[in-house]
Amino acid sequence: MTATIELEDTWCASNYHPLPVVLVRGEGALVWDETGRRYIDMMGAYSAVSHGHCHPRLVRALTDQASKLAVISRAFHTTPLGPFAELACRLTGMDRALPMNTGAEAVETALKAARKWAYTVKGVPEGQARIIAAKGNFHGRTIAIIGMSTVEQYRRSFGPFPGGFDLVPFGDADALDKAITRDTAAFLVEPIQGEGGIIVPPEGYLARCRQICDRRRVLLIADEIQTGLGRTGRLLACEHDGVRPDAVTLGKALGGGMLPVSLLLGTTELMDVFRPGDHGSTFGGNPLAAAVGREALQVLVDDGLIERAAELGPWLMERLRALDSPLIKDIRGRGLFIGIEFDAERVQAREVCDRLAARGILTKDTHRNTIRFAPPLVISRELLDEAVWSLGAVLAEA
Ligand SMILES: *Cc1c(COP(=O)(O)O)cnc(C)c1O
Repeated sequence: MTATIELEDTWCASNYHPLPVVLVRGEGALVWDETGRRYIDMMGAYSAVSHGHCHPRLVRALTDQASKLAVISRAFHTTPLGPFAELACRLTGMDRALPMNTGAEAVETALKAARKWAYTVKGVPEGQARIIAAKGNFHGRTIAIIGMSTVEQYRRSFGPFPGGFDLVPFGDADALDKAITRDTAAFLVEPIQGEGGIIVPPEGYLARCRQICDRRRVLLIADEIQTGLGRTGRLLACEHDGVRPDAVTLGKALGGGMLPVSLLLGTTELMDVFRPGDHGSTFGGNPLAAAVGREALQVLVDDGLIERAAELGPWLMERLRALDSPLIKDIRGRGLFIGIEFDAERVQAREVCDRLAARGILTKDTHRNTIRFAPPLVISRELLDEAVWSLGAVLAEA
């Protein structure tokens, strides 16, 4: 064990179990460890590094703004926030934005907005509003959010949780229809469940949810923190179904791989529920985050990263299928957001990750004995080829 790992193990709480590599530098889809060894980053920091590590334009946006004005709080106006919100709204087709920092905060903001909308616009009796979420969801780690989780470990010994949440099976629009009552404020859903194992719902699922929500006067809130910003080959994964939600949460890649930056975007009707003093965040929308967030959005467009994911995704999927390994149970996903599920009786996903790391390929297992291939969108075909080849080698030796 290196001294670096020992130090972390001694002084940090053990809420993570990292692979035993110590990374010191990154560029594009590559990272290097303490000894100078090169790795291909096939995880992209859970989709927070879609632009690649240390993208020059994002480094410049960060350093330029950091040397001017970084943090001042929303007690005052600053120049980067308006342009950031404008570009985010224009690209996503939403009317207004509320800036936060982490993904979980954007989701909490969405829950608060939906509840207040239910009381002040829909007319649900105060204290009665309910929000429907999908089983197998991942929306973050705060108390309210894990209250919606169906993962036993995320919840055990962390209760009690706030009430007002109902769960329906993911991918089942009829179940959503049945679960809605007079008091339902919103349906919160990931277009593709990420942490749940890269689960793609049946064709047309979101479009049906949209119709149901319209008919029953329920808000459709898409959590695009992981699926958004080009990951699936469209700016928002909802676009594959031609769906415009009432609200969208963005995070992860919104920070350009530099900072935590998140947004709740929504329609005017929804976002107008917020009045001064209702909600806030000391760091939310700070000039540094706004400058980096705006540049992150602009780089996605200028570098054609969305089109890249659309082009490379199906190609990568085909290469993976061509491995044709009996250890692989399923390959699923969209764009550069791919899950590879292994037969649990033959190999564990964690073991595959360890063996891949030994061959210079970094990724992480997730639920359902699945590993993810969600590299920075700037990755080259050559590096993707190398990752697929290494996976083939690992499966052959396992
Ligand atoms: C990662 C994630 C979150 C939480 O984001 P944090 O920045 O870790 O709080 C919420 N929703 C989805 C879909 C995510 O993938």
